[in-house]
Amino acid sequence: HAKKNKLEQQIYNQQIDVNTLERLQLINELKSAIQHGELVLFYQPKLDLTLNKVTHVEALVRWLHPDRGMIPPDEFIPIAEQMGQMNALTRWVMNEAIDQYLSWKDQGIDLGIAINISAENLKDTNFCQYVLDVISDRSVPIEALTLEITEDAVVSDPENAIKQLRVLKQYGLKLSIDDYGTGYSSLAQLKQLPVDELKIDKSFVQNLMVNLDDQIIVNSTLQLAHSLGLRVVAEGIEDEGALKWLAERGCEMGQGYYLSKPADADTLVAWLVNSGY
Ligand code: C2E
Ligand code: CA
Ligand code: CA
Ligand code: CA
Repeated sequence: HAKKNKLEQQIYNQQIDVNTLERLQLINELKSAIQHGELVLFYQPKLDLTLNKVTHVEALVRWLHPDRGMIPPDEFIPIAEQMGQMNALTRWVMNEAIDQYLSWKDQGIDLGIAINISAENLKDTNFCQYVLDVISDRSVPIEALTLEITEDAVVSDPENAIKQLRVLKQYGLKLSIDDYGTGYSSLAQLKQLPVDELKIDKSFVQNLMVNLDDQIIVNSTLQLAHSLGLRVVAEGIEDEGALKWLAERGCEMGQGYYLSKPADADTLVAWLVNSGY
């Protein structure tokens, strides 16, 4: 048994070595990717389950690499975080999302936009001032933007995170706790967070119709969130059954492949028109 573990460890280490080389290369390239316009935002609809209408979209970044094709965010966000590139990346995302918001507004399409914020952003003491400045410079109604923050980002430095989030909330920004249920935030911390919305992680939603444990978890999360006055978004809805199940239990919003995968802005609008949402 010990021998097998050792072998696995060696294989694992080799894996790391290959990955390290690839990562080093990506790190170098990521710095210029932002300037060279290689990043693009995709949008995934957030459906209001009571209105049966798409009221928001979530912006999800992709890297259109000249040689490697489309690199998903899970492969480069962690690198950007380690390399101190998250401020630049999030600033780009925020400006790009605002461009899109304003362009849709010109076309008579009114969609709130949710942006993902990383733990690194909350460590930057200028972050919250930057957000407020961009919003006022570009004349965006502040309630049009939602910031999605993972549970873990808050847990790593709750005091500072809570401080910055309170300021943003004071000015009317909508705040959402992402990947809820996968981190280790305590109820006491959750209660202190000035958030409006709680997103149940997709791992509890994807198999909702066949997994009774997930149903119990989601049900009690809905009750807990509602008793704290929070709106609930379920992500990872992959079938009609889950959508109905959630709507029947008072879940306010839903997101998932069953409705639409993240898509470029034009595809999203075409889908919106076709789907009747
Ligand atoms: P997230 O914020 O939890 O976003 C949800 C992820 O789940 C997205 O993956 C989305 O495509 C995927 N998803 C949505 N519906 C379904 C479904 O029904 N089934 C399944 N299996 N998956 C679904 P994506 O776009 O690859 O993004 C992965 C993660 O990368 C995001 O997770 C977020 O943490 C991070 N990310 C993406 N864009 C940004 C960004 O601009 N800034 C930051 N800081 N992080 C970002
Ligand atoms: Ca998110
Ligand atoms: Ca999530
Ligand atoms: Ca996630």
